[in-house]
Amino acid sequence: TASPAGADCLFCKIIGGEIPADLVAESATTVAFKDINPKAPVHVLVVPRAHHADVSALAGSDPMVLADVVALADQVASDLADGQYRLIWNVGPKAGQTIFHAHAHVLAGTQLGGF
Ligand code: 5GP
Ligand code: ZN
Repeated sequence: TASPAGADCLFCKIIGGEIPADLVAESATTVAFKDINPKAPVHVLVVPRAHHADVSALAGSDPMVLADVVALADQVASDLADGQYRLIWNVGPKAGQTIFHAHAHVLAGTQLGGF
């Protein structure tokens, strides 16, 4: 289930307007803003307004909002690039997750390398 906005959650603070971010799109459930340390010409974080630790928790408790996140990511990739993009969800520190509020990375605007 969604938790109340944690005083210690950076993305809850951005969603609440306490910390500025470069907003590029939003919907009733979801916001999208530019990553502060972009890894591609377009690098946007797409984030459910409700606090969930990661996409695993989000998928388990609110799959409709997960669908909203994917839809907004697709819209951002069409608005800011050509609609071709990579969507990344880091789940857990071993995957590189550093902010424990679920978010999708949209990478676009260039030829991405394989991995
Ligand atoms: P993770 O590693 O948790 O999947 O991704 C967290 C992302 O948040 C990183 O790509 C990092 O650059 C980004 N980030 C960290 N702090 C801030 C911030 O204050 N503002 C914005 N816009 N992005 C941030
Ligand atoms: Zn949060």
